Amino acid sequence: MTNNCITEARTDTVTSEVELQPVRSTLSIHKNLQASYYHRNDTHDTHPTLDQEYIKQAKCMLQKVGSWNFDIFLFDQLSNGKSLVDLTFHLFSEYSLIKLFRLDVLKLRHFLVMVQEAYHSQNPYHNALHAADVTQAMYCYLQEPQLFESLTSCDILLGLLAAATHDLDHPGVNQTFLIKSSHHLALLYQNSSVLENHHWKFAVSLLRESGLLSHLSSADRQSLEERLGSLILATDISRQNEYLSEFRAHLDRADLRFNNSQDRHFILQMALKCADICNPCRPWHLSKLWSHKITEEFFSQGDIERRRNLDLSILCDRNTYTVGKIQIGFISFLVEPLFSEWARFSETPLSHIMISHMTSNKFNWTHPPQENMGETTKSTSKTLPQGSLGS
Ligand SMILES: [Zn+2]
Repeated sequence: MTNNCITEARTDTVTSEVELQPVRSTLSIHKNLQASYYHRNDTHDTHPTLDQEYIKQAKCMLQKVGSWNFDIFLFDQLSNGKSLVDLTFHLFSEYSLIKLFRLDVLKLRHFLVMVQEAYHSQNPYHNALHAADVTQAMYCYLQEPQLFESLTSCDILLGLLAAATHDLDHPGVNQTFLIKSSHHLALLYQNSSVLENHHWKFAVSLLRESGLLSHLSSADRQSLEERLGSLILATDISRQNEYLSEFRAHLDRADLRFNNSQDRHFILQMALKCADICNPCRPWHLSKLWSHKITEEFFSQGDIERRRNLDLSILCDRNTYTVGKIQIGFISFLVEPLFSEWARFSETPLSHIMISHMTSNKFNWTHPPQENMGETTKSTSKTLPQGSLGS
């Protein structure tokens, strides 16, 4: 099976008119991934002509992977679109997870390649680049003093795995769309955390297929898979208030204990939630790029809904919303409440920087230098760095 076959199969599954496939077609994605896995010896063979200078620069960037200014778009270009594989592998090495969990290096690489390929590169936002960005943000949070001093290696392994896999096989449309179009995943998961359940189950299937954890006892594997699910399910944005209320209550009572595994797991859930929606807390030049990408995905869904005579989902009508309007609402109702609590929990220079970026980015959208509010995603796509779209 060639890479072209993979591309063709996956093109049929996303935000085109034919993306909503019956179960059989969705499972065929997995078959193709399996084939690609067995026909690939090593990821370095995939791009034999890649400029060695780029590889050197990518390695150089990884030395500063803990910087909040880390430019994932540039890193993705330098790593020839393999940012998720290279970054996650590097972080596993950095934390000595390979040695500690006796992981087979080849199985790890193959697993990460399968993860990268299970993301839909044609999605403007929910693709492997977003997963790489979330993984890098998660690393920054794992390095925060309170977490760094108390998290176990198992917590760190799960945190990184969850970040890398949390949006696996995302179709580029939201749960509302899946429900109103009677998609089989909505039926399977009874309209509840439909996408997140699918991301989790897909991650588990890739873990098992790769054999990455096959040397562990079945009880340990099962425990890891369940905790992985609990982390990924926490990224369901429609349940944000539940998590936030619990977080706020813990902070008010000052009763989070790092020697308690349940508390540490809850902190990991909150860290992953922050990493998932941290775009407005990045420097403006990065934050702005992400804003246009997510808007492009929303508007693409709206276009499909319009063609199918379905009610347009909120934020998806390109004739009503702008990038700026969407961002102001997103920051006000979701990002600010979450990050203000995170800053209470973790009073560090990083939290201060994130709040500062969020405030100034919101100001930029509220008081746009003329072009921001009225920009359409079509016009701004010209400003994206070469190779950043769909990579
Ligand atoms: Zn995400």
